[in-house]
Amino acid sequence: MENGAFIITIDGPAGSGKTTTARILAKRLGFDLLESGAFYRFVTYFLLKHSSEVSVSDFLLLSEKEQRIILQNVFKHLEVKLNSEGTILYLYGKPLKDELREPEVEEWVSRVSALPVVREMVNEYLRSLVKGRKVVAEGRDMGSVVFPKATLKFYLDADAEVRAKRRAKDLKGFDVLETKKMILRRDELDSKREVAPLSIPEGAIVIDNSSLSIEEVVKIMEEKVKEAQNIS
Ligand code: C5P
Repeated sequence: MENGAFIITIDGPAGSGKTTTARILAKRLGFDLLESGAFYRFVTYFLLKHSSEVSVSDFLLLSEKEQRIILQNVFKHLEVKLNSEGTILYLYGKPLKDELREPEVEEWVSRVSALPVVREMVNEYLRSLVKGRKVVAEGRDMGSVVFPKATLKFYLDADAEVRAKRRAKDLKGFDVLETKKMILRRDELDSKREVAPLSIPEGAIVIDNSSLSIEEVVKIMEEKVKEAQNIS
């Protein structure tokens, strides 16, 4: 890694605990927390609410060249602050928070994030953002595509049953069986999609946390970080 940069990637499927774990680890280490999903949510939100040129459904049908021109304009309006609490995205100088979790964003984000040009531009943005920094980067392709030379890579996983229970609890009132079906369907789509499918990155430390607490997972990670800091 170049000039003082130290990148830890955490990837994994839905309900694997990567978001919670990344948050705690970044805080303990005093590293910046890069939440990559926020950037796909931002592009989706912008297309839904701030694009006078095209609707999100029309955008999906444009040529890559046309998509690129629109995205260049979208990224021009983005400012980002990274710290150990998380990633804050600003549009026209105003921080975005709940906007990025609106149901419409949830509905469209996976289709927007499947577009190769969107992924390419988000990835470029993420790489320039972390230059020279100490970062915990959380997502689905952080260790495999975006930061293949990361100092340390983790891949979190858990049984579908356990992940479904966690998700159902997060989504208050969702049926576990239905959630499990939803998760298995999403796993199938995510691991089979053409661009950047969910996969275990080369060199990643796989932690199955089906029967581990968040604290136990973070402890394992902290040990590995200590070892890596002694080496680097
Ligand atoms: O992690 P989060 O739920 O915020 O991600 C929102 C969406 O962004 C995911 O459902 C996925 O479609 C996309 N995403 C992705 N690659 C990443 C992070 C998120 O495709 N590295």
